[in-house]
Amino acid sequence: VLYEAFQEGLRGRNVAGKVPSGLKRKSLRIVVTGGAGFVGSHLVDRLIARGDSVIVVDNFFTGRKENLMHHFGNPKFELIRHDVVEPILLEVDQIYHLACPASPVHYKFNPVKTIISFSFLFQFDIIFTNVVGTLNMLGLAKRVGARFLLTSTSEVYGDPLQHPQVETYWGNVNPIGVRSCYDEGKRTAETLTMDYHRSLGIEVRIARIFNTYGPRMCIDDGRVVSNFVAQALRKEPMTVYGDGKQTRSFQYVSDLVEGLIRLMEGDYVGPFNLGNPGEFTMLELAETIPKKLKVVVQEAIDPNAKIEFRPNTEDDPHKRKPDISKAKQLLGWEPTISLRKGLPLMVNDFRQRIFGSPKTIVV
Ligand code: NAD
Ligand code: UDP
Ligand code: UDP
Repeated sequence: VLYEAFQEGLRGRNVAGKVPSGLKRKSLRIVVTGGAGFVGSHLVDRLIARGDSVIVVDNFFTGRKENLMHHFGNPKFELIRHDVVEPILLEVDQIYHLACPASPVHYKFNPVKTIISFSFLFQFDIIFTNVVGTLNMLGLAKRVGARFLLTSTSEVYGDPLQHPQVETYWGNVNPIGVRSCYDEGKRTAETLTMDYHRSLGIEVRIARIFNTYGPRMCIDDGRVVSNFVAQALRKEPMTVYGDGKQTRSFQYVSDLVEGLIRLMEGDYVGPFNLGNPGEFTMLELAETIPKKLKVVVQEAIDPNAKIEFRPNTEDDPHKRKPDISKAKQLLGWEPTISLRKGLPLMVNDFRQRIFGSPKTIVV
């Protein structure tokens, strides 16, 4: 108990995890794995802004240094090129474990030979990262007594038979399908996290993240929002897979970051669904995006862009929508940015990366 109180004191919290009233919160040292990626880099911005020291561990598989360049030179920021499947020794108070390639779809568009070799490696890498990478970060948490947060995914529900999805639902995942390296990898990561918690008393948190969008998304990773925004800006047809009636719920990245921080700082292990319950079909999305972009971009965007139907990917979930009652009740969290409000916030970033245009549009 004394050791725990000492550790908590070092972190500037009392044993209940709260900052004692009247005292300034002590700056924490936090590692963000996958911090050079889309979500991770926004999380790093928030942690640095509130005065914490952040160490990013990333192998740049899908992440980019550009996402973090604005922190270079800040003594509270460190960037380590490292693959989490290898052990690493760090001294930290908290671990946000995000490192994982999040979009396995783009390899399917490569020529056949590349598909075979690259997709095999890619799938192997995902499962390896999820299992061995998570194990290493849990080992690190155990050694230094840090709190560990896993970014799991709505994909643990697979092609759900329950709608909307509640955390108590165990899911409907094909264990041998093309998506299973990601789905089952994350499910195993959740299992490891809970086993370290139950058997070793490690402080853990689990977030199940639903589809998220915003600036710094990879432009060509095949995810639907980045595809549609890039296609609208390039004046290309919107590629809808299947009949386009499948649904997804999209949350803006700042809402997610707020949820992750509340989860880490709160008293509950989870799992917690973090997502925006607004549900859209892919056809609705293909129609909405060009119209929304037309309003903010002053140049020729066809608001009625053509829709091009393509065959759907294997095992594509038919519907997805989070039940966020648990996060609302226990974390006091809910998204604040609707899809219609959030889409224009991506425009400047995508335009600059696609066209190199310095022109900034005020949205
Ligand atoms: P991203 O691909 O932009 O970021 C992942 C980061 O992890 C990248 O910077 C990548 O280089 C790094 N990485 C991958 N493998 C690594 C390894 N072995 N060692 C070190 N670094 C490694 O993806 P994102 O959208 O920012 O996703 C972040 C996390 O959130 C992931 O764990 C993902 O599964 C989860 N998630 C994201 C979404 C979403 O819609 N964006 C939805 C559900 C879950
Ligand atoms: N590990 C790590 N950094 C640390 C502590 C552990 O990367 O600071 C790795 C360690 O190499 C091992 C994994 O985490 O592969 C699990 O560690 P744990 O101590 O739980 O298991 P053990 O090493 O006893 O099998
Ligand atoms: N999708 C689409 N057109 C695209 C890219 C994706 O219609 O250009 C569909 C895809 O088939 C899926 C949905 O959009 O039904 C969401 O795909 P994404 O890869 O963004 O996320 P996930 O499938 O992981 O939820």
